Amino acid sequence: MAMIDSLPPLREVITQHGLSAKKALGQNFLLDLNLTAKIARQAGDLAGSDVLEVGPGPGGLTRGLLAEGARRVLAIEKDARCLPALEEIAAAYPGRLDVLNADALEIDPTQHLTQPIRIVANLPYNVGTELLVRWLTPPTWPPFWESLTLMFQREVAQRIVAQPGSKAYGRLAILAQWRCDAKIVMDLPPEAFVPAPKVRSAVVHLERLETPRYEADPAILSRIVAAAFNQRRKMLRASLKGLAPDIEDRLHSAGLSPTDRAERISIEQFCNLARTFEQD
Ligand code: SAM
Repeated sequence: MAMIDSLPPLREVITQHGLSAKKALGQNFLLDLNLTAKIARQAGDLAGSDVLEVGPGPGGLTRGLLAEGARRVLAIEKDARCLPALEEIAAAYPGRLDVLNADALEIDPTQHLTQPIRIVANLPYNVGTELLVRWLTPPTWPPFWESLTLMFQREVAQRIVAQPGSKAYGRLAILAQWRCDAKIVMDLPPEAFVPAPKVRSAVVHLERLETPRYEADPAILSRIVAAAFNQRRKMLRASLKGLAPDIEDRLHSAGLSPTDRAERISIEQFCNLARTFEQD
């Protein structure tokens, strides 16, 4: 197997620094550096970008990002036990890796980064979804990042890239695909991780669009989509009736039938409907 750098194998790093995986921190480590380099390659132009990596752990993905030429990596790790291992990586790549010992949900990393910025992470799934939603809903668009390359439980990855008419289609798909191109770029079996989780995982790559795919006010769109999918089996005239007394007229003027159901409505159609509220 080709070596991606001259640092010790990750199993040795883990033993040497006593990094037994902690369940409470969602620690499932990737130890195959060829695999982490492959994930890094999915993130786009690393040589010309700063990379924000959340949850580096013992640094497998960090090493992949650096070996693949990332201009600079800012890694945010909550578990202080990982810092010595990450310092060794920083020493092997002088001036290219900075580590912050912090909770990624609590800090704003933008002041430590220079544009263009790409985000890459293999995080615990609950933290990953929470951060994804935050990154997709900034106060203004375009956001501070160019792309997101994130590991998810496969079922969540499928919800992000889902198309209308499928069971997985819902709020997450609309949120992600309204302002990004989103695709699953890798599938990983449980055995790719140590310890192995119960479920399969997938890497999703989201590339931001400079402007939303279709015009709509984000707050209005979000309200409509939330109401529509809260009762996804109901007809739109029922699930959306709380939004406006004349909802049936609005549905007609957006080219929708009041008897349609949320899971069949495209992002473009949801945006058409959102625009009927902007004229109020
Ligand atoms: N990236 C490493 C890899 O691929 O082997 C580790 C992945 S492990 C699934 C998740 C990592 O995220 C752990 O190192 C954990 O300590 C860290 N982590 C968990 N919650 C975090 C948070 N809120 N902020 C920053 N790091 C967090």
